[in-house]
Amino acid sequence: MTLPAFRFDNSYARALPGTYLAVRPAPAPAPRLVVLNGRLAEELGLLLDDAAMAAAVLSGKDVPEGAEPIAQAYAGHQFGGFSPQLGDGRAVLLGEVVDNAGRRRDIALKGSGRTPFSRGGDGKAALGPMLREYLVGEAMHALGIPTTRALAVVATGEDVLREVALPGAVLTRVAASHIRVGTFQFFAARGDAAQVKALADYTIARHYPECAGAENAYVALFDAVVAAQARLIAQWMGVGFIHGVMNTDNMALSGETIDYGPCAFMEGYAAGTVFSSIDHGGRYAYGNQPLILGWNLARLAEALLGLFDADGDKAVDIANARLEGIAARYRAEWLAVMRGKLGLAGAGEDHADLAEELIAAMEGQGADWTLTFRRLADAVEEDGAVLPLFADPAAMKAWLPRWRGRLEAGAAARMRAANPAVIPRNHQVEEALAAATVGDMGPFHALLAAVTEPFVEREGFMLPAPSGFGRYVTFCGT
Ligand code: AMP
Ligand code: MG
Repeated sequence: MTLPAFRFDNSYARALPGTYLAVRPAPAPAPRLVVLNGRLAEELGLLLDDAAMAAAVLSGKDVPEGAEPIAQAYAGHQFGGFSPQLGDGRAVLLGEVVDNAGRRRDIALKGSGRTPFSRGGDGKAALGPMLREYLVGEAMHALGIPTTRALAVVATGEDVLREVALPGAVLTRVAASHIRVGTFQFFAARGDAAQVKALADYTIARHYPECAGAENAYVALFDAVVAAQARLIAQWMGVGFIHGVMNTDNMALSGETIDYGPCAFMEGYAAGTVFSSIDHGGRYAYGNQPLILGWNLARLAEALLGLFDADGDKAVDIANARLEGIAARYRAEWLAVMRGKLGLAGAGEDHADLAEELIAAMEGQGADWTLTFRRLADAVEEDGAVLPLFADPAAMKAWLPRWRGRLEAGAAARMRAANPAVIPRNHQVEEALAAATVGDMGPFHALLAAVTEPFVEREGFMLPAPSGFGRYVTFCGT
């Protein structure tokens, strides 16, 4: 079958033989388009008007001309333990297209069957989790946070076996690339210095071409990744996003959020908030994410050591100097995010005291993260609706006048543009996915519409879970 809309140009497959295996997606028995991201399709210059054709291609049943389906090799530290071989066990990279804005983007299928990296897994995915990635990823994009995108979810027409039989589906993921910290680790762990270098050269050319002219392009690459990731994690923290599984194979060199599994948005503020059923130690808790940023980047530095300097001791000195700077870099990004959220746009002061005192005032008070900042915009002149969000508002009451004293004209409007009214509320995500799983897409589309215009106040989408919802638990690899 030919689908002239795809103009594939597969630079990864071309430039990096030996880093992937050619695969064939499993043909879905009865592919049916469940949701298509029309605006993204347009951006990509894709014509997907024919639903049957779109379903066949975006399920992997028909491989369009020019696609070169591959499974990429990668390793990764999972919850701190190193797995030398992970790789795309249930994903296939169809190829790359250059979008209307000239950006090169990967088109990948997730849940399209077994690959040589599948180990014991079936390579498949269930409809609920794929719709979840679609919803949360598109919400993140609308919040202005770098992320992979969702082009479509196609039901395959077959069940996948989890604890129970669930309808199977394939997600089409669009990404700046799928190069992960774990991709470098895969080759570094095998002592394949040539492949690490080839991968670094490719990453520089694709994502950070300005590094090529630096004194040491690889050190510059590392610095660029630190900058992108520090900014990304600061943005996550700003909206209360908890990734849930920040393994090194889930950290992209591009600086995009990748792999929406057990992720969720924090409601009542608590630094220790964890949702993932397998994160017993709270390694990937909300407040730990900035520390894991540094930990993961240290693993990247290890993989790149041989490129930092031919002299091993010098390479370690270079890496250590870089790693020591990450905390300060992150803090600067976080303070910039917090200034934006607090309407303190003026340059000069960092207002770190105000940001930290607010966090301290929120801890343990059950104050909803999103609503607190949204209500603060209403509290520029008088206390209004913010105090009732706190179990004990005393500290907050003392903080408000100090904050007001630093505000400049226009703060409320700036804050309403920086602080979302709508995030994917956990209970509503679950309701939407449960309905979708039995064939009712109404709640999904209503929620999608709300979370993709997150700065618009929409009644019915702004409240935290009712107390009856209980403690929220999310699951991995589903
Ligand atoms: P993730 O938790 O999605 O980041 O995946 C971690 C690793 O497990 C990756 O190598 C995945 O390809 C693999 N994996 C997850 N689910 C499956 C599955 N159903 N079948 C095969 N491999 C899987
Ligand atoms: Mg992953």
